[in-house]
Amino acid sequence: MRSDPPTRRSRLARGATAAAAAALVSGIGVVALAPGAHAAAGCRVAYSVNQWNTGFTGSINLTNLGDPITNGWTLTWEFAGNQHITQGWNGTFSQSGQRVSVANPAWSAALASNDTVSLGFNADYSGTNAAPTAFSLNGVACTGSTPTTPPTTPPTTAPTTPPTTPPAGTRVDNPYVGARGYVNPEWKAKADAEPGGSRISSNPTAVWLDRIAAINGTTGSSSNGAMGLRDHLDAALAQGAGYIQLVIYNLPGRDCAALASNGELGPTDLPRYQAEYIDPIAAIQADPKYRNLRIINIIEIDSLPNLVTNTAGQAGATAMCDTMKANGGYVNGIAYALRKLGAIGNTYNYLDAAHHGWIGWDSNFGPTADLMLQTARASGDVRNVTGFITDTANYSALREPYFTVGSTVNGTSVRQSKWVDWNQYVDELTFATAFRSKLVSIGFDPGIGMLIDTSRNGWGGPNRPTRASTSTDVNTFVNESRIDRRIHAGNWCNQSGAGLGERPTAAPGAGIDAYVWVKPPGESDGSSTLIPNDEGKGFDRMCDPTYTGNARNGNNPTGALSGAPLSGAWFSAQFRELMANAYPPLS
Ligand code: BGC
Repeated sequence: MRSDPPTRRSRLARGATAAAAAALVSGIGVVALAPGAHAAAGCRVAYSVNQWNTGFTGSINLTNLGDPITNGWTLTWEFAGNQHITQGWNGTFSQSGQRVSVANPAWSAALASNDTVSLGFNADYSGTNAAPTAFSLNGVACTGSTPTTPPTTPPTTAPTTPPTTPPAGTRVDNPYVGARGYVNPEWKAKADAEPGGSRISSNPTAVWLDRIAAINGTTGSSSNGAMGLRDHLDAALAQGAGYIQLVIYNLPGRDCAALASNGELGPTDLPRYQAEYIDPIAAIQADPKYRNLRIINIIEIDSLPNLVTNTAGQAGATAMCDTMKANGGYVNGIAYALRKLGAIGNTYNYLDAAHHGWIGWDSNFGPTADLMLQTARASGDVRNVTGFITDTANYSALREPYFTVGSTVNGTSVRQSKWVDWNQYVDELTFATAFRSKLVSIGFDPGIGMLIDTSRNGWGGPNRPTRASTSTDVNTFVNESRIDRRIHAGNWCNQSGAGLGERPTAAPGAGIDAYVWVKPPGESDGSSTLIPNDEGKGFDRMCDPTYTGNARNGNNPTGALSGAPLSGAWFSAQFRELMANAYPPLS
């Protein structure tokens, strides 16, 4: 895995990168399913929010206080301000202006008397975020009583009925919500063996299927352990996990712009990728035994962005990326994976979208989104894509707290600093949000969500700035203010000074399905010296701390830790440093 900085950088003024939140389907009329002539109607709504500067997660517990509803319900309300829902769950949401309408999900058309359903949503807003004052269920105001019968005594505490979960095999909007993640016992054992590792070892991390043999489990490989895919799925059931995260990572000509994560399949091995890798994985995932698990497939880290930035005509071009672009191995391989895995009712496919320090320039942003769409369409249906993930192979900060892309220093934009280098984004959250909007605007489903890999982008520890610099020189200002302490944003291998970022979190913000740990903390990005192996892995000088760089990282030192093993192998010193520099810090 690796990150490449762009090879063409726009020096134009800030372009029209769509930052508007995705529009929901609007204009759907409320179907008022009026209760029968003798039916009593009534309802109660408990509304709460968890909010931050510009967005919030809303939670609603809706209780039917009237007669049983048997064939569908619709909840409506009006926002007081400019709240705009970007994503909802446990209901079909539509919004027109301030008016919101939520129809029952297909699996929950009935609502018995005194039954409570829980639904939720993410939204953005500005100004104040006043709660709506009036809700209606099937056109009847939710006053906490039934108008045609004597009032019932309202409970003194909010209802505690657990969220409605769909039946087996039915997709939810955001697979991370309301579900516990699978803890990989093989990663946990390595983490637990480190001093203090038990503080984080119960977090869900992804299982990487990085070779054909990993499907059945391996012995002696640098990264995988003895557990195969079925073993992990069975263990997930045994843990009572709601979701499991798998990385599909074995394309022909893998990691075409770097050497550290080259794989077992040569550039013309697409038929083997399909028949010996994707087909058996799909067959196992389709076993009805696993139908209650949400199976999250993270698909082919770094691949499509490499076709955009490291092919002919660009400074970073490599022969292998040119080959994989010309022979269609990446696009067709990913389209095949999306189609096969997307055909299973309880799977969720997320494509890799690199990170802001790679495709955050105008010249790379739109073309990457277009290639994603082309690939998704080649799978037969763009809805085979649930969303996208950023920052798995990288260390870019989630937020730069002390400046934004709009900041100026003594009249000079921070975009002119060497660090930002005319990028349109300075951190992952702004990038992921804007990239999502771009993807929806060109044809992806408005329900897509982003994942941000926060396994190694914490940048805490003693060198973390605690306030904005007071320098009037733009380079000094940015260098003293930025929490991302890398030497150059194009550095990607075993970065010295990095820390664990946010712990895995579901629905942390508008348009973001989750913060995840897909790159398991403690697993190397690549060896710092040549290590002979039979896994196809090469030695990339970007992992060598003595290397002085190339055009892709501005001819800077690599900032890589020394003593690193092969990519995927356990790197104890890195794990310990990640814990020491965690942000938020570990207690
Ligand atoms: C390696 C894989 C490994 C993954 C997760 C990649 O860089 O090439 O072998 O499974 O990282 O650590």
